[in-house]
Amino acid sequence: MPSETSNSGTTGVIRSTNPRTGDIVGECTDMTADDVEAVIAAARAATAEWAAKPIGNRARHLRRIRREWIRRAPELAGVDAAETGKSLIDAAYEVLAVSLNLDWCSWNARRGLRDRRVSTFPTVPKRARVEYGPYGVVGVIAPWNYPAGIPMQVIPWALAAGNTVVLKPSELASQTGLLLADIINGAGEELIHVATGGAVAGAALASSPGIDKLEFTGSGSTAKHVLRGAAENITPVVMELGGKDALIVTDGADIAAAARTAVAAAFFNAGQTCMATERVIVTPGVHDELVEAIRAETAKVVVGPDPSSHVGPLTMPGSLRRVIARIDDAVADGATLVAGGTRLSTDHGEYLEPTVLTDVPAHADVLTEENFAPVMCIQLARDVDHAIDLSNAVDLGLSGSVFAADLTEARSIARRLDTGGVVV
Ligand code: NAD
Repeated sequence: MPSETSNSGTTGVIRSTNPRTGDIVGECTDMTADDVEAVIAAARAATAEWAAKPIGNRARHLRRIRREWIRRAPELAGVDAAETGKSLIDAAYEVLAVSLNLDWCSWNARRGLRDRRVSTFPTVPKRARVEYGPYGVVGVIAPWNYPAGIPMQVIPWALAAGNTVVLKPSELASQTGLLLADIINGAGEELIHVATGGAVAGAALASSPGIDKLEFTGSGSTAKHVLRGAAENITPVVMELGGKDALIVTDGADIAAAARTAVAAAFFNAGQTCMATERVIVTPGVHDELVEAIRAETAKVVVGPDPSSHVGPLTMPGSLRRVIARIDDAVADGATLVAGGTRLSTDHGEYLEPTVLTDVPAHADVLTEENFAPVMCIQLARDVDHAIDLSNAVDLGLSGSVFAADLTEARSIARRLDTGGVVV
């Protein structure tokens, strides 16, 4: 088990373990609602002084945080890799990408947050301007798959705008959350406070009147609880939820490039990415060529406990059993296994061979639910319109991708996809 929790109203302990080895990574408090309130109060106490600083000073401080972040990146990547089971190089990629966001934020926050004149009705002698002020305490509830990268998409901006932050890391990656805060606070200002724990701590944060704005990243099912909690105080919420992304390939596309991209996007981080390519939808003229190219690219992907492998273990206990059951059900219903489909036999850890399926029945869970595992379903579309319909048939439109014969066709497909974003 990557983590053990014992939360029943009294303060317990969360122990995270390495999904590759079973070794204990660290222990921390499994906070109760009262513990979480105390953390929020500490964050509140720091808001006035931080909010009073001019934006230029806050931006300069973000650059100090960035220097501290880069200095301690190897340490953070090591803890991230240990708690999630991802390879050190993937964790390093995640952690170092954050420094780009810190950099960009520090140089652009002043422009984004500067006061703006707005026009008023011409005959009324008034001048109007918009001034941006901080909310106060921003709550950030984070998932385990990128435990440094995901919260750090939000935290730099919350800080730049003059807020302090209470971070609730996933219970599977608490040590990464604690170290992340230590690095940020190590730059000289106590701006991040951490509420460790699972559902109890998360629910307490979401429903607390002490939280002025909430950012939640996680699954749709948890999001419903979070929204109910936030509704108690009408707390504004930003939600980043799951996906079932499709990559569409049409006749005339560069098949070699499409296959390489599909394989990387489906299997990076063992498929445990919200924007992972879980479905590939292809038109008839290039179907067979694409399936063969994807099969060949998948054969190059190395899975296993070796630190240099491309695909590591699934982080969440029990997910391997769930996803193999979905694959088996689909195959029993007529799907064809092009690659993988089986568990890798190892002493520790839950490893799935990178899996590619074709001919998957429309109702199969493996095709309609987020798998969050290295599984790709290839769907044959009758034509471009049908490809778009298949992509939009799943109600988890986080993002999508298009490979087409030319940019004009790709853009026209992209515009018709019900997704938050599209990569062409
Ligand atoms: P999850 O929903 O199980 O947990 C997310 C967070 O919510 C954790 O910190 C958890 O402790 C907390 N939580 C659990 N119960 C809660 C409750 N009742 N009230 C408040 N908080 C509660 O998600 P996960 O398994 O950690 O992460 C995987 C999911 O996150 C996937 O669906 C993935 O697609 C999604 N995700 C989305 C994005 C994005 O940017 N859209 C990025 C990464 C992950």
